[in-house]
Amino acid sequence: MPELPEVETYRRYLEATSLYQTITHVDVEDHKLLTVSYDTLQHALKGNQFTGTRRVGKNLFVLTRTGAVVTMHFGMTGDLAYYRDEEDRPSYARIVFHFNTGFKLAFICPRKFERIGLIEDIDGYLRHKKIAPDALEASTEDLTRVFMKKKASVKPVLLDQSTVAGLGNWIVDEVLFDAAIHPERVANQLSEDEINRLHAAIRKVLTVAIEREAVYRDFPKDFLIHVREWDDSPHSESGGHRLCPRCTTRIEKAYVGGRATYFCPQCQRE
Ligand SMILES: [Zn+2]
Repeated sequence: MPELPEVETYRRYLEATSLYQTITHVDVEDHKLLTVSYDTLQHALKGNQFTGTRRVGKNLFVLTRTGAVVTMHFGMTGDLAYYRDEEDRPSYARIVFHFNTGFKLAFICPRKFERIGLIEDIDGYLRHKKIAPDALEASTEDLTRVFMKKKASVKPVLLDQSTVAGLGNWIVDEVLFDAAIHPERVANQLSEDEINRLHAAIRKVLTVAIEREAVYRDFPKDFLIHVREWDDSPHSESGGHRLCPRCTTRIEKAYVGGRATYFCPQCQRE
């Protein structure tokens, strides 16, 4: 599933390819992929240009010359591709923005969980959807403020997009591992030092993931990601026989807030 690092990679890709070209039309294969009417989208974008981007968590906003903002949600498997010739059109390019330069930007949605919409006001949208500050922009004060109010385990609190936006399941496990905090510690009992470690770990994990363009095999060897199983089905209870990359204790797997969770019982004490 595209997480914050993937969406940041898409954002940079869109900025590098698709700005300041006049949009001639938008092809939409299936109108269910739109959260506005097709006519509204076409009317807002025809003759318009993309001029910039903003990302908050997993939400990508594409700014235009007229002030209208295109929202992109990448769902489970969404992606972008920029191309010119029809034979290079990728599979599942279900929404395609055509530019007067002859180039096109495809919004790829294999499983149709992806969505494109149109809004006028990003901050109003974020408030309405209760989306918190982006995880890379949240300060230690932001974290302290939300943690003070939460008696739940720290892991589901971090996954909640109204706490900080953009932290998915594996990222939260990696962050807690890096900060040496057990996933079931109660959020409002964390010390100032622990919240500082958590804040630093969020920045570190996301920065590494973005630098490596979310290619997980290129992550540092001491990351937990190399020992997690990607089949998170309830059948695989063992957690494998995988060892902590920092202390060689056997990694444990548990379900915290209903989500498969990997942690080192030695490095992350309860
Ligand atoms: Zn360990």
